[in-house]
Amino acid sequence: MTLKHTTMEADIDRILISRQQISQRLDEMAREIAAVYPLKGEGLVVVPILAGALIFVADLIRRLPMRTQIGLLLVSSYSGTSGSEPRILFAPGSQIRGRDVLIVDDILDSGRTLQAVKVDLCRHEPASLRSCVLLRKPGKAPPEAGADFVGFDIEDVFVVGYGLDFNSYYRNWPDIAVLRPELYR
Ligand code: 5GP
Ligand code: MG
Repeated sequence: MTLKHTTMEADIDRILISRQQISQRLDEMAREIAAVYPLKGEGLVVVPILAGALIFVADLIRRLPMRTQIGLLLVSSYSGTSGSEPRILFAPGSQIRGRDVLIVDDILDSGRTLQAVKVDLCRHEPASLRSCVLLRKPGKAPPEAGADFVGFDIEDVFVVGYGLDFNSYYRNWPDIAVLRPELYR
């Protein structure tokens, strides 16, 4: 694609979920999460799956009332829009032993990413392990790869924005959006 003469805005075909809808839903999700964990004590270790969860986790944890630590986790799974096996490149280790751990990801599609992350984190024996995704695509993930907290169920289209990328671009678009079809070719 040639980017030289066009803007990011011109690449967006339609907005699927607006920034205002995201913000409202995050208020609710934070309440759902806060209801499950104790307010007192050492609190949560939140594990965002980078880089897709970057924006989501920043907005979510600032709505949580309990003490929260972050354990970064880096997975490479997608090149372009076609899936491949997830590879965990960097993960928290002994930091999560005996702790309440909440995995945060941008989107649950086949569930392979979340399942691989759960297996990896379990090795370090957290006290509890739950997961939270902003988006979920319909019916592909097996039950064991399911998420405990889900922001929105969406149709099976490739989305960008609010942390989600295409060729590493569009993470900074503030809404969940679909690109013009010719860009995916
Ligand atoms: P899964 O392993 O569940 O099939 O896919 C999860 C990962 O694939 C997500 O963390 C995300 O990085 C990527 N992914 C899945 N669907 C989409 C999508 O529609 N748009 C973008 N940008 N990434 C996606
Ligand atoms: Mg991802």
